[in-house]
Amino acid sequence: MKVVEPELFIDGQFRRADGAEPVIEAATELLLGKGPSATLADVDDAVASAREALPDWKATPAVERAQLIERLADAVESRADHTNELCTREIGMPITMSRTYNSALPVAILRYYAGLAAKMDSEEFRPSLTGHTIVRREPVGVVGAIVPWNVPQVLGAAKMGPALAAGCTVVLKPAPETALDARVFGEAAAEAGLPPGVLNVIPGGDEAGAYLVRHPGIDKVAFTGSTEVGRQIAETCGRLMRPVTLELGGKSAAIVLDDADLDLTMRELRMLSFGNNGQICIANSRVLAPKSRYSEVVTALADMASSLVVGNPLDDDVDIGPLVSSRQQERVLGYIEAGKAEGARVVTGGGKPANHTRGWFVAPTVFADLDNSARIAREEIFGPVVSVIPYGSDSEAVDIANDSEFGLAGTVFSSDETRATEIARAVQTGTIGVNQYQPDIDAPFGGVKASGVGREFGPEGLAAYQTVKSIFRAGPPNSIGSE
Ligand code: NAD
Repeated sequence: MKVVEPELFIDGQFRRADGAEPVIEAATELLLGKGPSATLADVDDAVASAREALPDWKATPAVERAQLIERLADAVESRADHTNELCTREIGMPITMSRTYNSALPVAILRYYAGLAAKMDSEEFRPSLTGHTIVRREPVGVVGAIVPWNVPQVLGAAKMGPALAAGCTVVLKPAPETALDARVFGEAAAEAGLPPGVLNVIPGGDEAGAYLVRHPGIDKVAFTGSTEVGRQIAETCGRLMRPVTLELGGKSAAIVLDDADLDLTMRELRMLSFGNNGQICIANSRVLAPKSRYSEVVTALADMASSLVVGNPLDDDVDIGPLVSSRQQERVLGYIEAGKAEGARVVTGGGKPANHTRGWFVAPTVFADLDNSARIAREEIFGPVVSVIPYGSDSEAVDIANDSEFGLAGTVFSSDETRATEIARAVQTGTIGVNQYQPDIDAPFGGVKASGVGREFGPEGLAAYQTVKSIFRAGPPNSIGSE
């Protein structure tokens, strides 16, 4: 791979970073490169640049912003092969998945928000009994966007797309594990001709993230990451009265109804439970199975999990790559031991896979014979570990699904779509699927309870970067169209 110097993208230019951290390839444990790591002074510079760029960017007609975001999408797309491979090396995501999640989807997100910007109406007239109000949507200002390593390009695009479309300027802080692929956004911004300061990309550690959140030059924080860090950010933003969007962790349930087609269910759960080696926020890590079919579901899931090919994620035939880091591997292995200690039965997996002495691999693992009170059924593991929990009636399945601190995603499997949709309506979650699930960029995505506050994607995702002002005027709105 091409070795590049650790550089930050600030004020429209790359500049050498004073801080740098090694980025290690997940499958080989070899050095991939030195990733830039923003200092607090770099955060200051990036925020100052974004502030300076704000008035002009905000005043740029939305259709022109749309054209620039389209060009940004083109430039990201033209780097797809490079980005896909780099992300796979950084985080262990199988390359087949990387092609979607590290290029096709981020590009689609950017184009979607360019499309919304192109037809954006910033003012609406509402008549009242005594006059009328101009309801005006304005960009919220300078956005501090913080993302984790697990799907870095999608999460970066999901913040910069709507923020830039709304007329906000952005300081994006990717995680240290993905400090190398983050460079793509800076290169693309420069190639697209985004004015200096409109997008700044400063990978860095937790301290830089915390500083960005409380920085006086920031008007809104958009965060994706763990619930634990999300709570800290919510506290800071609460104190500062600073708008914040929080996309946090999950412990989503796949509810398998008694009439479900198990072949279809298992085909879907390959990705929903084990996609990106289980390192996805929407992971269906609890599978709720009817008592009448419990052993059938356990066997089908274990067969599917043990058929997944574990290996180097750059190989097209591989389903399960390594976890992102030794720390993540230790965490997941710790949960597996906790499950065993609580008396759950390991049906397949249960530790490191044989034949992988290098790389932070964990075997796809299925636990059975546990209930929803087990730690492994309650806490987010963020690895390829799934628990099968029995239930009696449909309403008990809903109660178990809802008996969780989290509420991010989920799926209901049934040969009766109407029945499954009724169950989906009753589950307390931000998103849920029937016989299939995927975040739809046209529809709001986000969580309830400890899974977060606010929504991304869809027009709701754009609204998250706007503030609404009402200007009341006496008399009829005779000036519609003339202002
Ligand atoms: P994390 O919370 O540890 O880190 C996420 C980001 O926040 C990183 O960039 C990190 O440097 C930064 N950070 C850490 N401490 C900070 C602080 N005090 N202030 C500001 N920034 C800080 O998360 P992680 O473990 O790296 O990522 C995995 C988590 O992300 C999982 O819980 C997963 O469910 C969640 N996630 C959620 C979604 C969603 O859309 N809901 C999507 C992807 C991942």
